[in-house]
Amino acid sequence: MIPFNMPPYTGEEDHLVLDAMRGPKLCGDGPYALKCQKWFEDQLGCLKTLLTPSCTHALEMAAILIDIQPGDEVIMPSYTFVSTANPFVLRGAKVVFVDIRPDTMNIDETLIEAAITDKTKAIVPVHYAGVSCDMDTIIRIADKYKLFVVEDAAQAFYSYYKNEPVGTRGHLAAFSFHETKNVTSGGEGGLLIINDKRFVQRAEIIREKGTNRSQFFRGMVDKYTWVDVGSSYLPSEIQAAYLYGQLLNAEKIQAKRLEIWRNYYNGLLPLVQRELITLSAVPGDCSQNAHMFYLKVRDIEVRTQLLSHLKAAGILAVFHYVPLHSAIAGMQFGSFIGDDNFTTVESSRLIRLPLYYGMDIADCEKVIRAIFDFFDTL
Ligand SMILES: *Cc1c(COP(=O)(O)O)cnc(C)c1O
Repeated sequence: MIPFNMPPYTGEEDHLVLDAMRGPKLCGDGPYALKCQKWFEDQLGCLKTLLTPSCTHALEMAAILIDIQPGDEVIMPSYTFVSTANPFVLRGAKVVFVDIRPDTMNIDETLIEAAITDKTKAIVPVHYAGVSCDMDTIIRIADKYKLFVVEDAAQAFYSYYKNEPVGTRGHLAAFSFHETKNVTSGGEGGLLIINDKRFVQRAEIIREKGTNRSQFFRGMVDKYTWVDVGSSYLPSEIQAAYLYGQLLNAEKIQAKRLEIWRNYYNGLLPLVQRELITLSAVPGDCSQNAHMFYLKVRDIEVRTQLLSHLKAAGILAVFHYVPLHSAIAGMQFGSFIGDDNFTTVESSRLIRLPLYYGMDIADCEKVIRAIFDFFDTL
């Protein structure tokens, strides 16, 4: 069986994890955590980054930082993971879903303005498959209505928008280091990216259980105490050491993923010409990170048949999100504004193919052949 995903592993993680285990500090913000954060601050050119136990937690911190209150509205696509919505719902917000663009599966930036009310507090764009949303337009709207922008950049490690790393345009952004993402911190992990200096000090406090412990360790206050709401949003040093091993090999991981992605793309193009499938479009001002390879078939029936054909051929391909507005909790905590022209139909046509760092090109060829077989015998 060709699995859908295997956690990325380069061989360099082992000795770093052992080194962390033998060191004097295993809790959060140890030497490897600081090295990772420095790596991201240099790579992104951003103000501040903080490792978190997950992207979900980074988004929870963001919701606290922008002071979401019960009744506030937050605009996002419905075609996304539950973790885009839950952090805001936990603070009492109402989620406002708008439709997506069929070319990128990202929020349709032209529909955002019509969904804004006097209760709107934030826009949460999701960069699906590591392809950036139209951030120029989203930031322009946010500025006009004085809204916050929190980027769900869970899938966008090493993606670019207008030659800038994705995750640096919003007030706040979040990466995921779950094992299904391009790099992982030992299976689970995330990063809060802070691009607005108003949030730096309070982010450290919220992350340290609502205490000013970080300032205390820097010698800025002479005792540490409870000063704000907060929780425990620090991953352990073992996770940070694993992640650092991945960051040292980031170029290698990305080169491999891009090779597989391009192989799929070029291999499947004849099926696009025969109008049997469509492939994702990467707008000219975006550079994608090969987080995901997906294709779309005619409809949900063809999708079901293709998935079972691939399964019979020993290949695990999968569909993706069931739109949040049609989920039980989505109906309770949110509502769809405007017409659902694309969210439901486009999501029901989409299939993701196996793509992981350790994948053989021969397996990629096998997947392509199995897809051709399917359409040739249809
Ligand atoms: C993976 C993912 C998340 C959640 O990441 P965790 O690190 O598992 O919390 C959130 N949003 C999107 C779009 C994702 O793909």
